[in-house]
Amino acid sequence: MQVGRWNHQSTSNTTNYSRPAGKQFSRSPSRSGGYSGSRPSFGSRGRAPSRGGNRGGFGSFGTTEAEISKFMNRAVVTTEEPVFVPEHTFADFDINEHLKKNIIARGYEAPTPIQDKTIPHALLGQDVVGLAATGTGKTAAFLIPLIDKVMKQKGERILIMAPTRELAAQTEKELAGFAKGLGFRGMVAVGGTNIGPQISQLKHDPAFVIGTPGRLKDLIERKALDLSGFGTVVLDEADRMLDMGFIDDMRLILGKMKKERHTLFFSATMGKEIERLIGDFLTSPVIISVKTRDTPSSVDQDVVRIPRGKDKFEMLVELMNDRDFNKVLIFGRTKYGVEKIAKDLSRRHIHAESIHGNKTYSARIRALDAFKTGKVGALVATDVAARGLDIPAVSHVINYDLPSTYEDYIHRIGRTGRASLKGRALTFVQDR
Ligand code: AMP
Repeated sequence: MQVGRWNHQSTSNTTNYSRPAGKQFSRSPSRSGGYSGSRPSFGSRGRAPSRGGNRGGFGSFGTTEAEISKFMNRAVVTTEEPVFVPEHTFADFDINEHLKKNIIARGYEAPTPIQDKTIPHALLGQDVVGLAATGTGKTAAFLIPLIDKVMKQKGERILIMAPTRELAAQTEKELAGFAKGLGFRGMVAVGGTNIGPQISQLKHDPAFVIGTPGRLKDLIERKALDLSGFGTVVLDEADRMLDMGFIDDMRLILGKMKKERHTLFFSATMGKEIERLIGDFLTSPVIISVKTRDTPSSVDQDVVRIPRGKDKFEMLVELMNDRDFNKVLIFGRTKYGVEKIAKDLSRRHIHAESIHGNKTYSARIRALDAFKTGKVGALVATDVAARGLDIPAVSHVINYDLPSTYEDYIHRIGRTGRASLKGRALTFVQDR
């Protein structure tokens, strides 16, 4: 039996961050890795912030002790996860042989749970609801059967809708890897970038159009995109698209497609609205859930208490000067704040890039690449800009500003501790 990366989930959850309560934040950076002595007070439970002041910002999650306790997860010493044994190997699937070779060439040995369960149904043309977050391998779960479909059914055209430009670009990149030498095209249709080249690309009738709802709608309105020949659609991170207010655009776009549609629907969460969407858009779907827990056990989580009157930026600088913090994703709340943190870090000789909605698409991609390739050690991001990003080996996630909701928190910390690596998440909590 083949055993893939996803099977090795035994994690040792001991953490370095446990500090005695009340230790104060000092400015003596230690290069030794880990913290000792007069280091910041991680997870001290001494002072209970009151709800009233809400200094974490308007509508923040993490302003009560009960909520703050959700940012800590150090209790478990060793957790043995049940080993996932896939029912299939990639060789088992009745898919194009060249595609199989490309899958192997990408280093995929065995299907992840969502792939193992989704691919057979998608290959049969069944509608699928996949309840799976980023990091589970959901992208390949829909790309593999759909590439095969394009190879088997001449003229088949596929629309993939994603909430953010970054996710769309990442999906296209993965598509390009799987589709090497197969002789069809995919294109990205997202906003924040010149629409002209996208209109030109659409004239070549690409088999895959991967886009965000706003730009897709724009292209439809300009008569550059005619969806009447599209019979397959993927709604990726549907819950996120809903959160971002894309519901009307999504309905409009789906309404322009073939009536007889093959629909694959992915969401990290299931709620009333998501259920309604599924009821409206899918036909007798197979529902596959691989979501077993809401916080990844591969992520050590802790809070960093910032004593009253202390500057949290100085705390960030101190952490960043530790060599363990080598690939750090920092979350800020506003576009302006994120830009300022990145600039201020760079001024302190900590090379940082930023991604947020005020940056052009190409500037965001450049920033992301600089972070991915290790040219800069820190990327400062807003929640929306970072959604769905797959960045290998992020060492730490720092919640510089509190997330708005617990769900946002889960999404944030899911950027680290991926693909069998261990990650760390630290949340700044300002004492008041
Ligand atoms: P996703 O959830 O689609 O964002 O995928 C998360 C990461 O896992 C990506 O870097 C994928 O390339 C990788 N991945 C997906 N499926 C597999 C697999 N079967 N074996 C190894 N890596 C995979």
